[in-house]
Amino acid sequence: MISESTESTTETPNNTNPPFEVSIIGGGIIGLNLALGLLRRNIPVAIYEKASELKGIGAGIGFSATVQECMSYLDPRISAILSKIGFVENQPLRWVDASKKDEDFSMRGPDELFDMKLPLERSYVLCHRAVLVDELVKLLPEGCLRLGKRLEGIEQRTDTGKVVMSFMDGTKVESDAVVLGCDGIKSHVRYLLAGEGNPSGIPHYAKESAYRCIIKMSEVVPILGNYASVMAVWVGRGASLVTYPVSNKVCNFAAFVRDNDRDWPDYSEQTVQASKAEIIGAFVDFNPMIRRLLEVLPDQQSRWGLFDTLDYPLQSYVDGCVAVAGDAAHGSTPHHGMGAGIGIEDAVVLVTILEKANQRLSSDAAATPESKRMAISRAFETYDAIRRERSQWHVASSRRQGQLNKWELPEIRNADDFVRDTMERASRVYTYNWRLEVQRSIQDYEQKMANTEE
Ligand SMILES: Cc1cc2nc3c(=O)[nH]c(=O)nc-3n(C[C@H](O)[C@H](O)[C@H](O)COP(=O)(O)OP(=O)(O)OC[C@H]3O[C@@H](n4cnc5c(N)ncnc54)[C@H](O)[C@@H]3O)c2cc1C
Repeated sequence: MISESTESTTETPNNTNPPFEVSIIGGGIIGLNLALGLLRRNIPVAIYEKASELKGIGAGIGFSATVQECMSYLDPRISAILSKIGFVENQPLRWVDASKKDEDFSMRGPDELFDMKLPLERSYVLCHRAVLVDELVKLLPEGCLRLGKRLEGIEQRTDTGKVVMSFMDGTKVESDAVVLGCDGIKSHVRYLLAGEGNPSGIPHYAKESAYRCIIKMSEVVPILGNYASVMAVWVGRGASLVTYPVSNKVCNFAAFVRDNDRDWPDYSEQTVQASKAEIIGAFVDFNPMIRRLLEVLPDQQSRWGLFDTLDYPLQSYVDGCVAVAGDAAHGSTPHHGMGAGIGIEDAVVLVTILEKANQRLSSDAAATPESKRMAISRAFETYDAIRRERSQWHVASSRRQGQLNKWELPEIRNADDFVRDTMERASRVYTYNWRLEVQRSIQDYEQKMANTEE
């Protein structure tokens, strides 16, 4: 639970107009998208980010056509950026069974490259994370992003209807009511929301590591041949691999390795140092083409711990005027390539209902701190009601996909089983009616407000 108090300890900034501002904790992909969506709807935003500089990591990221539409709804400039920097992949999802040790993949014709294909229309845009973050930051108005601000505590004041945030540098900020935790898988806002000792407050190791980097196309093409210019998921025993171009010059590489026999060494860190030899060791049973690809990796590697929220999901994403979104709410393993996409869907619902709350309060000259608090907390209740089920289902589905990609499920024995098992979940993941969800959010919020006012 977020603590509550009635005793004022901080200065209130003098901003009586408009009705509320939003404080976002965390300037990752979700915090940035959400901020831009709110600003477009004339809702003032400040982003508090613990890092002293905001730069994306050196790896790729992809977004489905539906997620691109969601970005456009948030702010059309976001999808315009993707069109500018991204690489479009207009293919259904496809996998190669790389456990076929003796096969020479270079002998396969262009139509035979993949062993498993989903009969599902799909357009995906792939890009470099660091470039995307850079471009999104450029769209923020001056003063919106506050760096070096690591959130430590939140207190909801019942007398003023405001929220006091305290930061590690000793400063406190009183926010006009709304705090959104977009602080990632190791979210401190989620920890505060769940309450001390609650296992839902912390992410749990999904017993899997990822090794990710960017490799020059000039090194990849001679090895992967026809596979170099498309997205390929390589599946095998105990490990899997994703390769895709993020531009004409570089290819994204992400290897996933099951860690049944080892725990994560340091829970305060998301990455630990690793070596190329460690990756090669995990792929010894893979096809020679993949083993040749591993040889071109840099010697120094980072091992990313994959944490998720499957075993201890949050019972609610909100508490009064505080909410969590993105990985902070429903961190998942990355096997649908949709973790950020699901967070962007959260942002769509949040901007929709916060805009409604803003309109209501702007037209209410007699709004009190209590009525303001009520309008915002009802908006957050709608967000929780609309988003929790789908986003937590995605966490479970992604875990299952990770097991499939490593041939770990005894009931899945061949390509047909694989496609059958994946198809239904994949269509739910990638073809999602976000416009309907926007309508449902508005209806649910109006209903909640009508019930409150009765
Ligand atoms: C290998 C891999 C591949 C992936 N591929 C895809 C893909 O193709 N498509 C896709 O949609 N998703 C993908 N994902 C998932 C995606 O990366 C995440 O879902 C997404 O980055 C989450 O964004 P976020 O903004 O919620 O969190 P983050 O990106 O983790 O951002 C959180 C921010 O909060 C800040 N922060 C943390 N604590 C505090 C604090 N106390 N105070 C202030 N600031 C704080 C952090 O510094 C950080 O900047 C992948 C994930 C992995 C691991």
